[in-house]
Amino acid sequence: MKSVKEIPFVREIPLRYEVDVFIAGGGPAGVAAAVAASKQGSKVFLAEGHSCFGGMGTAGLVPWFCQFTDDINFLAGGVGQEIFNRLNFKLGRNLLAINAEKLKRVYDDLITEAGVLFNFHTQLIDVQRDGKRVLYAICNSKSGIFAVKAQAFVDCTGDGDLAAMAGADFEKGDKDGTLMPGTLCSLWCNIDWENRYDHHAMLEKAFADGVFSIPDRHVPGMASWGHGVAGGNIGHVYDLDGTDDDSITKGLLRGRKIAPEFERYYKEYVKGYENITLVATGSLLGVRETRRIMGDYVMTLDDFKKRADFDDEIGRYSYPVDIHPNKNDPEAYARFREEITSLCYKRGESYGIPYRALVSRSLDNVLVAGRCISTDRYMQSSVRVMPGCYITGQAAGTAASMVADSNGKKTAHDINISSLQRKLKDIGAYLPNC
Ligand SMILES: Cc1cc2nc3c(=O)[nH]c(=O)nc-3n(C[C@H](O)[C@H](O)[C@H](O)COP(=O)(O)OP(=O)(O)OC[C@H]3O[C@@H](n4cnc5c(N)ncnc54)[C@H](O)[C@@H]3O)c2cc1C
Repeated sequence: MKSVKEIPFVREIPLRYEVDVFIAGGGPAGVAAAVAASKQGSKVFLAEGHSCFGGMGTAGLVPWFCQFTDDINFLAGGVGQEIFNRLNFKLGRNLLAINAEKLKRVYDDLITEAGVLFNFHTQLIDVQRDGKRVLYAICNSKSGIFAVKAQAFVDCTGDGDLAAMAGADFEKGDKDGTLMPGTLCSLWCNIDWENRYDHHAMLEKAFADGVFSIPDRHVPGMASWGHGVAGGNIGHVYDLDGTDDDSITKGLLRGRKIAPEFERYYKEYVKGYENITLVATGSLLGVRETRRIMGDYVMTLDDFKKRADFDDEIGRYSYPVDIHPNKNDPEAYARFREEITSLCYKRGESYGIPYRALVSRSLDNVLVAGRCISTDRYMQSSVRVMPGCYITGQAAGTAASMVADSNGKKTAHDINISSLQRKLKDIGAYLPNC
């Protein structure tokens, strides 16, 4: 139980930056937002709480990118395409293995080349606002607490921290507040990749033999970096709330505890993995779902099913509904399998992402991108993956630039949509309907 006793905390802090656009969080959404806003000529400050850009895909060691394409069209055009090219990816495979160190350098280069101002280990801790307008972001870094003044703010924290701090409406989890489990992803070596067997095959036997403290049937697996090294998305951390420090702390402890259980499983039960060694677990706990900031439009399962088109579309995306069950029983896993295999698209199919899903309905100069945009749970489980975050990130960054350029005359609710779409097309966004 957290203490409810409060103390006053009042002090003067330095105003270290005055910029057009402030961005909180430098994961895939934040990087895309910062680069896009900078391309529009905005002065941008990006506060990243961790030691590198990339969020889940780097510090979190998430081992794959989901699809950049719908198998015909390149959906993550623009900043996503630039990242795809710099990683020397080839079209034709849906899941692309991530070498986290390479990806960190790609992001470092993109952000520095774009002239974005930024600091690592710099956490957004509060905002100051006047009514529905946020005026200052309050950050904490090694040098102390400081303020950043901006005209427009983009929340790319994954958790909607900035919007929530400013009092925005949000939803979290299902109607009972249940959230998807997290995963502490990991890095492994000494795998005989060419001669490995299906890693699921022996799970039930290992459960019966007591190898695992919790039998988790949902093991997404590993992606090869080459030379017997692979990144692992294995081992769910249940009952995790990624907006609660106690829960994150317990989750990290749990993730580190179960990694050796998987090491034993792979070594003793699965051919090809006899010499496998755990190299590292992520320095960020993998969080799939927390707040969804309610926007001017809320994307829903119905939009997914009907492959929705929108007049204010800022991009299109295509990835199945992928809600990891927060229970480890066989029925929950069977339901998950049924959902992910039935709620998925054929070649060339995609859904539109409306601009209104990036605009907090409660605030005038705050845009949201990445996994916390305005959706229901079903849609969140699709659009949250990294190429989807590039699409929403670059649109939110471009729109924030337009809000900033209007010198207070326009809010995020009433910028010119055709002009936004033109700017997005100019940088390579996939917008076939406009
Ligand atoms: C275990 C797991 C497996 C996944 N598998 C895949 C997959 O196979 N393929 C795929 O494409 N996607 C996958 N995803 C989804 C994808 O990785 C995330 O949804 C995506 O990274 C979200 O991007 P984001 O930019 O919104 O947030 P994040 O990646 O979470 O980045 C947020 C960034 O903001 C920073 N931050 C947070 N709060 C603050 C603050 N208050 N102040 C300053 N900085 C802050 C964080 O340090 C972080 O760098 C997976 C996710 C998880 C957790």
